[in-house]
Amino acid sequence: MSPVRVLLATRNAQKLVELRRILASAEISGVRVLGLDDVPSLPELPETAATFEGNALAKARDAAVATGLATVADDSGLEVDALNGMPGVLSARWAGRHGDDAANLQLVLDQLADVPEDRRGAAFVCAAALVVPPGLAVSAAQTVVRGHWRGTLTRAARGGNGFGYDPIFVPDGDRRTSAELEPAEKDAVSHRGQALRALLPALRGLLSSVSTRS
Ligand code: IMP
Repeated sequence: MSPVRVLLATRNAQKLVELRRILASAEISGVRVLGLDDVPSLPELPETAATFEGNALAKARDAAVATGLATVADDSGLEVDALNGMPGVLSARWAGRHGDDAANLQLVLDQLADVPEDRRGAAFVCAAALVVPPGLAVSAAQTVVRGHWRGTLTRAARGGNGFGYDPIFVPDGDRRTSAELEPAEKDAVSHRGQALRALLPALRGLLSSVSTRS
């Protein structure tokens, strides 16, 4: 049987590598993971939902409808306790311009300048969705799961790995920032790794329903 194609609705090569590695370590075979660069171009719509789950589902649904492929999408961000859970779904544009990691990180540091150590808690959150379009499996389906990674925020950026807020986030149980972790070390515990691993039962269900039909 030819492999089931699953689209990961991202242009981020790191996320593709991570999903492939998670599938391999769960010994899930018979899946070929594609990225947005492997399919005809899709319009990029703004993320307007109020929740990570809403944005992940919208991204997965739009791409599944456009391509007819089973699609995984994620949405993630940083929730800061002292900011009542913000920047949350606005993490990528917190300083006003989408994707300006340095400005976003600096704004959070400035906002927390007077916040003492015992109130500098935060969490990275990631929602991951799998949408199976009608006709592909026994029934169309959608699944959404969440990963949650607790830590505290430093007063200055440290470390050269990762992206976004990694240089100011120290995971619980560690003294290093997540930008000082090796990539594989981060995947093993991060919000995104947890969410993608939580999707494995739904991916296994997809595979068995596709093979039952063929
Ligand atoms: P997206 O879900 O890939 O669009 O990420 C949203 C934003 O959340 C990013 O631009 C980062 O600012 C932040 N973010 C999400 N995950 C991480 C992470 O693992 N490390 C650092 N920042 C992250």
